[in-house]
Amino acid sequence: MNDTIAAVSTSLGVGAISIIRVSGEDSIDIVNRIFKNVDLSKVSTHTLHYGHIYDGSEVIDEVLVSVMRSPKTFTTEDTVEINCHGGINTTNKVLGLLLSNGARLAEPGEFTKRAFLNGRIDLIEAEGIMDLINAKTEKMRKLALNQVGGKVSTLIRGLREKIRDVLINIDVNIDYPEYEDILVITNEMLETSLETIKRETLRILKESENSKIIKEGIKTIIIGRPNVGKSSILNRLIDEDKAIVTDMPGTTRDIVEGTVNIDGIILNVIDTAGIRETENIIEKIGVNKSIQMLEDADLVILVLNNNEEITKEDIKLLNKIKKHNRIIFINKSDLISKIDADILKDEIIIYGNTISNDGLDELKNKIKEMFNIDKIDKEDLTYLSNARQIGLLRETLKIINEINVSLENNVPIDILAIDLQKIWELLGEIIGGNYSEELINELFKQFCLGK
Ligand code: GDP
Repeated sequence: MNDTIAAVSTSLGVGAISIIRVSGEDSIDIVNRIFKNVDLSKVSTHTLHYGHIYDGSEVIDEVLVSVMRSPKTFTTEDTVEINCHGGINTTNKVLGLLLSNGARLAEPGEFTKRAFLNGRIDLIEAEGIMDLINAKTEKMRKLALNQVGGKVSTLIRGLREKIRDVLINIDVNIDYPEYEDILVITNEMLETSLETIKRETLRILKESENSKIIKEGIKTIIIGRPNVGKSSILNRLIDEDKAIVTDMPGTTRDIVEGTVNIDGIILNVIDTAGIRETENIIEKIGVNKSIQMLEDADLVILVLNNNEEITKEDIKLLNKIKKHNRIIFINKSDLISKIDADILKDEIIIYGNTISNDGLDELKNKIKEMFNIDKIDKEDLTYLSNARQIGLLRETLKIINEINVSLENNVPIDILAIDLQKIWELLGEIIGGNYSEELINELFKQFCLGK
């Protein structure tokens, strides 16, 4: 049996109303002990009641209480929500009374965790709730809502059902070989079914990459030698003086971050310490950090100075980013050109300067083109959107490919069934059909209190 939990579900601060949520078998009883006007144990489910919260004989607040009985509630348990006056003092006082009358303070995400463990929502829907709360753009909101509404889960369930059908047929073949009227599964038939599943998996994966961009943005790193204008470019992009601009090489010693919204897609831009050989210890830390950050960047903007010849260090940097999506921004186009762009003939180059703001729109347009941002706009946003989900689907694809190789080598079907079973389980993990307690605890910890 679950104990009864309580938490403030609205953000704690000054506001007109605060909502305190109580969930669990004793929730109605506990609230009844401190609420006066109506006996809540006798009211119908999903009804709202006016009254007062009391601490002994002292009135604490005038409230509205909603009573929702199991099972049609978010957690599936009996739930009471107290709408009290906002403000930290009143809210904490009411919460304190609930705790001293038998409720336990909920852990972050515990209401949603109960909704999941009680089978009310699956893992994708739970993650969607968290994303919905954290959504920064309209697209993020839509993407999250499709997860919450179960559209994404339906997609994965569909794939899972296809695997289940194949597995059932194989089982029947193995268990009842004597029956003549059963469908005998051949390698060719399995190949055909697998082809459909693979196509669908690939499609979801491809679209999910877009969803990841919608949700997490494009991690963009600005690199270049000191003093070429990296901080100025970041400032121009984000339209505020966030990075410190000076004409002393090596000033941007730490990492400065900003976000730019390009047609609803967030560009997380990081201005790195100028990368160069240095003996200065503090600067060295910054330089090493910059190199580290390059590793998982989605896009690198290498800034060069139009007014200087390309140096060995520039070439070194260029070689470091050969595997990345990259744009070369030749800054200070207002000054005389000394750069030999022939060396960069295979690169995407944009000329510009931060004095008159030249080239920055072109830079944004190039990024739009590179990441198909216009195309993402028109897509139905019903896809997986976090690394956990996408990682599991990639593993699924890997096993499908392995089965294909086994099929070519005529491996018996009952052996292949073991791999098919693995796919079934991986897809189950995505929706939380099978899960480890550790994963669940980690995941729900990321929720806010009261959710
Ligand atoms: P960072 O070290 O690469 O981040 O470079 P900063 O953004 O700090 O700029 C270094 C110096 O170059 C500053 O004095 C800026 O004012 C100057 N600067 C930046 N962009 C331009 C530009 O487009 N044209 C000219 N003429 N100067 C620039």
